[in-house]
Amino acid sequence: MDIKNYSRIREEIQIFEENHNRKISLIAVSKKQSIEKINYLIDYGHLDFGENYVQEGVDKIKTISNPSLIWHFIGPIQSNKTKQITEHFNWVHSIDRLKIYERIKNEANSLRKKINFLIQINISKENTKSGININDLDEILDGIDPSDDYLRFRGIMAIPSNTSNINLLEKEFSLLNKAYISLKERFHTVDTLSMGMSNDYHLAMDHGSTMIRVGSKIFGERI
Ligand SMILES: *Cc1c(COP(=O)(O)O)cnc(C)c1O
Repeated sequence: MDIKNYSRIREEIQIFEENHNRKISLIAVSKKQSIEKINYLIDYGHLDFGENYVQEGVDKIKTISNPSLIWHFIGPIQSNKTKQITEHFNWVHSIDRLKIYERIKNEANSLRKKINFLIQINISKENTKSGININDLDEILDGIDPSDDYLRFRGIMAIPSNTSNINLLEKEFSLLNKAYISLKERFHTVDTLSMGMSNDYHLAMDHGSTMIRVGSKIFGERI
């Protein structure tokens, strides 16, 4: 792993923030990456990590056992895994049904643990992907308690189409940004648009992203 890639992304973010007066957070997506690489980044001062698989993520969180770290769950959620997610993670990016929302809310309340969550939108409409259709956002919003003390609504997350078609990506990012802006007007807790990965984070930032999730560009290929 070459720290130069990480440093360059940090620099790009800093320049972007100065030019656009908008903060961008960087999640290092550590799924299928070794503890050694994660520790290397922690020594470099990085705190936010993203994991896709519950068991792998929980094992790493326990092994590394560093209370300063902020762990983001970004993978598909099965209802029998919500308890472990609530216990070990600080953010959940991938809530896409009320049943999962209710379970995590109840578990966060009984643990008295503050968790931030995003609703995942399936913007590419590929049926292999998690997330709700952007037109169904209101249905899930109607079931959310925006004043819950423990499970806090922060915004939306999406994975765009797997394509090099810039026009299509821009179209998807713009739709997401539009949805995000209207959510911000409606919910005072909303401040996060989680979009942008190794291959498209520049474009995502240009289209309103406030949080990018970068894996292979930081850590190298996954094992
Ligand atoms: C794997 C993954 C990423 C990171 O992907 P890279 O292309 O390696 O940057 C980001 N977000 C989600 C939801 C992922 O599953």
